Amino acid sequence: MIASADTVETGACLWADVCIVGGGAAGIALALSLSGQGLKIVLLESGQATEHAPTQALYAGEVADERLHSPPDKYRTRRMGGSTTIWGGRCVPFDPIDFEARSHVPFSGWPISYGDLAPFYPEANALSEAGRFSYDADEALGPAAAPLFRRFESTTVRTNSLERFSCPTDFGKRYEKRLRLAPDIKVLLGANCTAIRLEPGGRAVDELEVTTLSGRYFKVAPRAAVLAAGGLETARLLLASDDVAHAGIGNEHDAVGRYYMCHIAGNVGTLTVRGTPDDVRHGYELAPEGVYCRRRISIAPEQQRRHGLANTVARLHFPRITDPRHRNGVLSGLFLVRRLISYEYGKRLNDGTATSPGLYARHLLNVMTDPVDTTAFLAHWVARRTLAQRKYPSVILRNRTNRFSLEMHAEQMPNPDSRVTLSERCDALGMPQVHVDWRYGRGDIESVDRTLQLIAQEFESTGAGTLEYDRERLEEDLMRFGAYGGHHIGTARMGSDVRTSVVNADCQVHSVRNLFVAGSAVFPTSSQANPTLTLIALSLRLGKHLSRRLAPKPRVQTDLVAA
Ligand SMILES: Cc1cc2nc3c(=O)[nH]c(=O)nc-3n(C[C@H](O)[C@H](O)[C@H](O)COP(=O)(O)OP(=O)(O)OC[C@H]3O[C@@H](n4cnc5c(N)ncnc54)[C@H](O)[C@@H]3O)c2cc1C
Repeated sequence: MIASADTVETGACLWADVCIVGGGAAGIALALSLSGQGLKIVLLESGQATEHAPTQALYAGEVADERLHSPPDKYRTRRMGGSTTIWGGRCVPFDPIDFEARSHVPFSGWPISYGDLAPFYPEANALSEAGRFSYDADEALGPAAAPLFRRFESTTVRTNSLERFSCPTDFGKRYEKRLRLAPDIKVLLGANCTAIRLEPGGRAVDELEVTTLSGRYFKVAPRAAVLAAGGLETARLLLASDDVAHAGIGNEHDAVGRYYMCHIAGNVGTLTVRGTPDDVRHGYELAPEGVYCRRRISIAPEQQRRHGLANTVARLHFPRITDPRHRNGVLSGLFLVRRLISYEYGKRLNDGTATSPGLYARHLLNVMTDPVDTTAFLAHWVARRTLAQRKYPSVILRNRTNRFSLEMHAEQMPNPDSRVTLSERCDALGMPQVHVDWRYGRGDIESVDRTLQLIAQEFESTGAGTLEYDRERLEEDLMRFGAYGGHHIGTARMGSDVRTSVVNADCQVHSVRNLFVAGSAVFPTSSQANPTLTLIALSLRLGKHLSRRLAPKPRVQTDLVAA
């Protein structure tokens, strides 16, 4: 069932086998996986089914440097479905190398392997509505599908891996009916968990405190509690619950909130591909099950090890939108309407370029002199994006020149000084807000630089094209918009060393036997991949663990035993 938290009596104490805090992708996947196991599940969701400004304001907080990281109430939504209400839907699994301890990536190495997570990826893919769990172009699209570049073959630089696109599925809407009808799940909307109360001694959770914006107050006493409140909020809850564990829960070694990662991303250089536009497979392809897929450029794992590279991918991209010299009507049209686009999707159209009437005039001229492309794009966008149930994932432009910029998406190295702490300020419910001090290092930039050099060498040596980029400007290109948007990773990382991690291989907070974390907060490293598919797979794995631990055992039939 789904009910308002305001229907619970003030002062009440609800009992649950499992209480999940947060109804985003992680919390919903976990609740669904636990359903039908004989357990009573309570899911506390702060938000409502739709946007609610006073609830969203609970996400406000401080950032150390707004050029490097967006304010914490941007790039995440506090409502049922969490940030899947605005995500882009790009699904990519982690690679086996991401789980390895790599000498060139400090603090790397998961206590689980790719093989431990692999059984859960297909279901994560299904929940995300991203089709088959198949991320190799030959396998997913068939060997007859044309390669990314017709004249490029390299064992160092790969072009065969795919990303797949969800509808994009809003988990709150998509699974609302299943959650409403499940007899063993109770979802409470408007239910803000404001504190985790430990039993004396601090080894187990006693109760979770819940407050509503209308002033109701009650508790949930669970056998197991799971924080699925997102990468920033999970650290906030652990740190703010400091009555028994004075440094915050799980923070005996000052690891909560540290190692905070996003991705290193930006558009770089010019890749000129030899041949005709037909020689380049730029854009989306449909898998047989009707899911949009796109190829990327990646570096073979043995070459990553050999050259000491963080895991990084590159996608073919168009020129810088704000610069009207591209003479493209569609890009100029996007620039002109950028203020109508949401903060999250408009941010990269506001790259600090000084605007002037002259700049607007040049963009307007591009729109007027490129009417065919602009009209075709508008028709395509309305039909395949605005009206379609499965949405065309992003703007792709016909490229007549075979010149592309590379959109880099790189793993960020874990760094204990990049961290989330509590601010002096409190929200409307009296909880300290977050203070985000996101940092990157020289190693992050140098790894992208070496990755680009490797790509350039391979294009040169195969004669397939040339890649040029300004090494002096690389840092500026990668940091133009600071940390990559809504990927909040590593603030309650998984590990076997309690001094540098917060949860163990089962996502259980080391020091608290019935407290668990679901979500990208537990990732010890960030991979090249966007986080959601993997955090869903981890939630499903946690669901299996909790079912095993808590579900009632089938009763032994005495007559059979006697026989
Ligand atoms: C613009 C944008 C585009 C993105 N695109 C992609 C993409 O293409 N691919 C990809 O993999 N990822 C993408 N992401 C990231 C993706 O949205 C997140 O990884 C994912 O939604 C995180 O899910 P979650 O359940 O862990 O956390 P959240 O979605 O943050 O959910 C947490 C839930 O907890 C609730 N909550 C918070 N605090 C409390 C509390 N104290 N008490 C009760 N409830 C609470 C919130 O209301 C929310 O519903 C994107 C993000 C953004 C912002």
